[in-house]
Amino acid sequence: MNDDRLRHFKQVLIDRMSGLMGTAEGTVTEMSEGDGTFPDPLDRALSESSRTIELRTRDRERKLIQKIQKAIQRTEDGSYGICEVCGEEITEDRLEVRPETTLCISCKEEQEQVEKQFGM
Ligand SMILES: [Zn+2]
Repeated sequence: MNDDRLRHFKQVLIDRMSGLMGTAEGTVTEMSEGDGTFPDPLDRALSESSRTIELRTRDRERKLIQKIQKAIQRTEDGSYGICEVCGEEITEDRLEVRPETTLCISCKEEQEQVEKQFGM
């Protein structure tokens, strides 16, 4: 990958990360602002399930942020765009869609097959 493309993907990653961090911060504020008292049991149940979903979303966001941070590091050490498993270059089309990926499409598909097989 040439330097221009690498710079492009690094910028995409940085933008994505700052977008995610913005929402993550917003969620924290919202959660700490609620006083957690609901007179109606139905309201409380709804609130608890939406809180569970919110926590799950935050967990996913956190993991994605970590992935993006690693990808940014890889743009700096020269290993960006190289598949972790087979060492082949990941296509730029794929990187445009998932700039944080560490696997080429065939390794990713293989991994998904394994996950399905073992119910992960
Ligand atoms: Zn691969």
